[in-house]
Amino acid sequence: MMKDISNPQSMKAILKKHGFTFKKSLGQNFLIDRNILNNIVAQANLTEHSGAIEIGPGIGSLTEHIARHSQKVVAFEIDQRLLPILSETLAPYPHVQVIHSDILEADVNKVIQEELSGIEDIMVVANLPYYVTTPIIMKLLTEKLPIRGIVCMIQKEVADRLAAKPGTKEYNSLSIAVQYYAEAETVLKVPKTVFVPAPNVDSAVIRLTLRKEPPVQVQDEEFFFEVIRSSFAQRRKTLWNNLLNNLPLKEKREELEKVFQAIEIDPKRRGETLTIQEFGKLADALAPLLK
Ligand code: SAM
Repeated sequence: MMKDISNPQSMKAILKKHGFTFKKSLGQNFLIDRNILNNIVAQANLTEHSGAIEIGPGIGSLTEHIARHSQKVVAFEIDQRLLPILSETLAPYPHVQVIHSDILEADVNKVIQEELSGIEDIMVVANLPYYVTTPIIMKLLTEKLPIRGIVCMIQKEVADRLAAKPGTKEYNSLSIAVQYYAEAETVLKVPKTVFVPAPNVDSAVIRLTLRKEPPVQVQDEEFFFEVIRSSFAQRRKTLWNNLLNNLPLKEKREELEKVFQAIEIDPKRRGETLTIQEFGKLADALAPLLK
């Protein structure tokens, strides 16, 4: 019987044969637990008609499991040393295509058009390199890709922030940025022991389901996010102080007071207590003051 790539003995043999050594700087922590791999893929609800995009296939442990549940897989891998290994380990899966590229540099929309054309249901599934989790997730969310969502392993601490609700200590501008584009839920907590080498931090799998419409309609998205970032600039400060210190409003205190009255938000509240909808209201009401 063929062994899974993730089987610790198979993995050891593959790594030894190719003289592969892990690069910490590339976030290389490979999964060696079949149950976790199955569970990650199950969270993506793939069918035999689905397309999948993987980021960082490593030696193909997760790729193999994704491949068993989808029509086509495109995997972006930055580390050239892994390419000959992947062509060997993934040889039984001709519907997997590995692209040698930094995901942050890749034109993912173009790759989808070229490699996953005709496939309606596309998911991103990945055990992400932790040094670059947030830029990858924000790239995937903001590039308007035709995907249903993202299921990915990330640091537990980051997962807590992405899925955080207003009024909690984890809620910050990143929570709002992500939740503007997607519904976020933590679907699995993962111990360090299922990786080789074990990372220093705990992990979790998060599912981001892309929204068809944002949860709030704003006049100017860029300004909306600027207001959010300003409101969280110093966590212990009130909205009033953060906005005055971080937006050019120092000469407009009276107008600012009127804005807060009109939208019925107490300026003494902290940013961490506002919902996305309240931030939307605040940004639209503030915009005329800064024109
Ligand atoms: N998927 C494999 C697994 O689960 O065992 C490996 C996951 S490992 C956490 C992260 C992988 O991402 C590594 O293979 C690493 O080389 C790759 N990687 C790191 N930075 C990348 C980037 N910017 N673009 C694409 N791949 C990257």
